[in-house]
Amino acid sequence: MDELTILGNGDSMGVPRVYCDCEVCTEARTTGVNRRLRSSVKIATDQGILWIDCGPDWVEQMEGAGHREMRQALLTHAHFDHMAGLPEWADACRWTKQKGILYAPREVLSAVRERYPWLENQLIYQAADDGLSFGGWQVTVQKVYHGKNGFAHAFRFVKPNYSFVYCPDSISLGDEEKKFFENLDLLILGTSYYHEKFDFHTRSVYDMVEALELLKQIRPVRTLFTHMSHDVDVRRAYPLPAHVALTHRGMRVQLTR
Ligand SMILES: [Zn+2]
Ligand SMILES: [Zn+2]
Repeated sequence: MDELTILGNGDSMGVPRVYCDCEVCTEARTTGVNRRLRSSVKIATDQGILWIDCGPDWVEQMEGAGHREMRQALLTHAHFDHMAGLPEWADACRWTKQKGILYAPREVLSAVRERYPWLENQLIYQAADDGLSFGGWQVTVQKVYHGKNGFAHAFRFVKPNYSFVYCPDSISLGDEEKKFFENLDLLILGTSYYHEKFDFHTRSVYDMVEALELLKQIRPVRTLFTHMSHDVDVRRAYPLPAHVALTHRGMRVQLTR
C-alpha cells in the first residue's frame, strides 16, 4: 500500500538553531522531542520511491530511514533548506554509477543549475511544469507565494480514490492558488510558527493560526503541519481541531481512505 513518510519537519534552520538557547532549542539538544531536520518526505509505491526535497540533512535522513540509494526526487524550490543535499546525492550517484532523476519546474532546475553547475554529470533533470506520473499517481504542480522569499511550488498527487497536496513553503495564498488545494483527503502544509508576530513583509511561511483560517476555506479531510521552527514546542497542546495534527520525524501516513 502506498505510504508517505515524514523524513524531516523543521524550518529552514532546523531545530535546535545553533545560536539559540531558547527552551525549545535546549530541549531539542537534550531529550530531543523537538529536534527537527529540514523538511522532506518520501512516497513509497509498489513501483518505487519518490523523495520530495533534498536538503542539508539528506545523509542523516537517508541513514535514519535505512536507505542506501535514492533514484528519483522532486524539488519544491531552490532554497538551501530544500536542495543543499543535491551535491551529496549526485556524488553518491557518481560512486554507484547510476544516474538519479531530478524532477522540478523549469525555473527551479535553472536555479539549481546556476548554484551547482556540475550536478548534471550525475543527475538527469526532468521538467515537471506539466506534471508527471509516478507509481500510479498523477502529480500536478502549482506555483505558490512564499512571501519575502519569492515563490515555491506545491505538488498535488491524485489517484482515483485519494488526493493529497504537499506544500511546505507558502503564505497568503491567492484565490487562484487555493483552487489547487480543494477536495483533498490530506494536506501537508508548512507552518513555521504557531502565531508569528513579525511584520508580514518579513515573513515567508504560514503560521498555524493563519493556516486554520485557510483550512476553513479549502476543507481538507485531514491536515498535517510541517516545516516548524523553534517556536513550536511539541510538548504543548495547541488548540487544533481533531482533523489537524503536527508531523514528527518518521511519521507514516497511509495514502488511502
Ligand atoms: Zn523551507
Ligand atoms: Zn523556502
